[in-house]
Amino acid sequence: MRILIAEDDFTSRNILTAILKKWGYDPLTTVDGNAAWDALQQPDAPKLVLLDWNMPGMEGLEVCRRLREIDSPSPSYVILLTGRGEKGDIVQGLEAGANDYISKPYDKEELQARIGVGKRMLELQCSLLEARDALAHQATHDPLTGILNRRAILDRLNKELLRVSREDGRLSVGICDLDHFKKVNDTYGHQVGDEVLVAFTQCIQAHLREYDSVGRYGGEEFLIIVAGSEGQIQEGIYERLVTEVADTEIKTKAGPISITVSIGVAPGTGQSAIDALLAAADAALYQAKAEGRNRVAYAIQQ
Ligand code: GH3
Ligand code: MG
Ligand code: MG
Ligand code: MG
Repeated sequence: MRILIAEDDFTSRNILTAILKKWGYDPLTTVDGNAAWDALQQPDAPKLVLLDWNMPGMEGLEVCRRLREIDSPSPSYVILLTGRGEKGDIVQGLEAGANDYISKPYDKEELQARIGVGKRMLELQCSLLEARDALAHQATHDPLTGILNRRAILDRLNKELLRVSREDGRLSVGICDLDHFKKVNDTYGHQVGDEVLVAFTQCIQAHLREYDSVGRYGGEEFLIIVAGSEGQIQEGIYERLVTEVADTEIKTKAGPISITVSIGVAPGTGQSAIDALLAAADAALYQAKAEGRNRVAYAIQQ
């Protein structure tokens, strides 16, 4: 683990560096408050900081205060290690945002134990952040296919509508429904059906542009948002997806399976209401199914 040392006294700094190394830490030394502050601004700055108080340039206390002004999800753990040991100093140090306070001369074992506490706190903070990120991912992604779930893709659609309304742009919404998918389940079983759904989403993702989105709208229904120019629909992006799906042989544990998809597309602008767009895309999807499946049908602009 990396630890930032800010200490202006040459001898104290060298001793501290040596003992931290001996304890298995990776110290980064700075010789005054300004240098410490600069080092802490770096994106990969150490999270544990041993800070002297009296230093030329910026004082340790000021470094502490500035660190606490940063609104970070993973704040650093700061131990003030200082010759100032009056009760008032300790209170002032902690109030400036230090997590801990050790007076010099320090007891080595106590320092080691207190650094250990900081390390544990930072590890806990890190695992809480990871858990938070994992929950956020779970809340927005479909567990089977890994793409955005219904809530998240509708959220994205709302945001895209706001964006195109600001930019006076265009978008289109496509609802894709796998053709005769029930037959896949009935013939090969649900697990193979799941494999097909995963492969289908991979195929769609591989052929969408970076700024387009796809999410799972329902069981075997997917929502695609195609952002951008008016010409997009004429460029045949949906037709290409239909062709790619039909031409891609899916390898499953039951052997290769071919599927087709029908897509109902509703073009819209920033003025389009989300419900009207979805209803129009749904109606177009019914039309594509009725016209023989494996095709795209368009609604008029909503
Ligand atoms: P159509 O061409 O008219 O869309 O016919 P279809 O058979 O695809 O339509 P239907 O709505 O009758 O069937 C959809 C099937 O999708 C039924 C359902 O069991 C299946 N399905 C929905 N979600 C999942 C899933 O997560 N895994 C699997 N394996 N099947 C699913
Ligand atoms: Mg000093
Ligand atoms: Mg369906
Ligand atoms: Mg279907």
